[in-house]
Amino acid sequence: MGRPVQYNTNVKLAPIPEGYSGEGFMATSFDKAIGLARKNSLWPLPFATSCCGIEFMATMGANYDLARFGSERMGFTPRQCDMLLVAGTIAKKMAPILRQVYLQMAEPRWVIAIGACASSGGIFDSYPVLQGIDQVIPVDVYVSGCPPRPEAILDGVIKLQDLVQNESLRRRNSPVYKALMDSYAIQ
Ligand code: SF4
Repeated sequence: MGRPVQYNTNVKLAPIPEGYSGEGFMATSFDKAIGLARKNSLWPLPFATSCCGIEFMATMGANYDLARFGSERMGFTPRQCDMLLVAGTIAKKMAPILRQVYLQMAEPRWVIAIGACASSGGIFDSYPVLQGIDQVIPVDVYVSGCPPRPEAILDGVIKLQDLVQNESLRRRNSPVYKALMDSYAIQ
């Protein structure tokens, strides 16, 4: 006898953006529609070098299930990803490689620094360790902890989703953004 089919009735749909709706139509601004799509389809590129990477693996696993946020499709080529997740200690020798990976990502791109090492060098206050990845690339969200629990990583992704949803389509043409890129000598 076949098992009874069970449906997950707790699935929540993404909230509809603000706009006007009537019978058979819904209208909103282009910014909001694009923001909704981007927010729920961030493709992660894990740049994991040490212990925090293990926590990220747990975040991808069935129990924490990052796929719920539309981010199940991990990519290992920067050209197919828009969310760079740096998890672990970054040696100064590795910094140019991390920067190269960032540069190979197409705009719009976002960065999360996972854990104390990626955010600030962590306990490794020593000459070979980069004291935070924001010395070589801009960071959008910092996740604290050594290591952060998967819940904290999910919280960081949710914070980034908020930022992505509300980001103006023109932000990346703005003088402020250009100044930020200039400060990193990125064209
Ligand atoms: S923050 Fe802590 S757990 Fe994460 S890579 Fe550094 S030492 Fe390891």
